[in-house]
Amino acid sequence: ARRRHTMATPYLIRPFEHGADIVVHSATKFLGGHGNSIGGLIVDGGSFQWAGDARYPMMSQPRPEYSGMVLAETFGNFGFAIACRVLGLRDLGPALSPFNAFLILNGIETLPLRMQRHSDNALTVATHLSKHEAVSWVSYPGLETDRYHALAKRYTPKGAGAVFTFGLKGGYEAGVKLVSNLQLFSHLANIGDTRSLIIHPASTTHRQLTDAQKTAAGAGPEVVRLSIGLEDPADLIDDLDAALEG
Ligand SMILES: *Cc1c(COP(=O)(O)O)cnc(C)c1O
Repeated sequence: ARRRHTMATPYLIRPFEHGADIVVHSATKFLGGHGNSIGGLIVDGGSFQWAGDARYPMMSQPRPEYSGMVLAETFGNFGFAIACRVLGLRDLGPALSPFNAFLILNGIETLPLRMQRHSDNALTVATHLSKHEAVSWVSYPGLETDRYHALAKRYTPKGAGAVFTFGLKGGYEAGVKLVSNLQLFSHLANIGDTRSLIIHPASTTHRQLTDAQKTAAGAGPEVVRLSIGLEDPADLIDDLDAALEG
């Protein structure tokens, strides 16, 4: 199993303990944590048996450009990590600059402090929005009423992360207005910044889709996405309340 592990980070979930073989992170989000660098990580858990598996010829068949070497046999349980370097990195050449690596490593040093605060703040804000008269629904697994709450308690007992969506009773127009009324939230397509971020997908990232396509993608006209930051949650609630009223 492969897991894309961007939202929870290793602070909230340790996927190898739940059966993942390969974990992929975007370091652009919570790992770096400050919205200042683009990067990513692939972690090979070393548990997948590639050798002899015809479904994965790049791993289990001889590689002509390496004199017939079979990566899964030569490198054993770190074969996939080597394949990423010699078949991907070497040929395509993506490389993080030293300065961006420094910023991401600096971010990772405070990951546990930040993720706990992100999650605690998100639960406070989601709880508030779930009782707000302008809000029709909130989708956040940290809420007891959420359909995924039991899974969240099992897999992310320390908190359900910082990113969630909610629906506005006022639909598309209310979404556009909320974003422009807010003072403290930044209007950005990114997630996982120290600062709280908001986006109304229907009028921005997903605007080229038809209404039916938007709804199918979870980006219907009334949907708003938040990435909750490290601010005082009372300030975030005040900002949302004033913007929803205004
Ligand atoms: C996450 C993100 C990126 C970078 O994506 P990766 O997951 O690191 O590849 C770029 N732009 C925006 C708006 C993003 O949210």
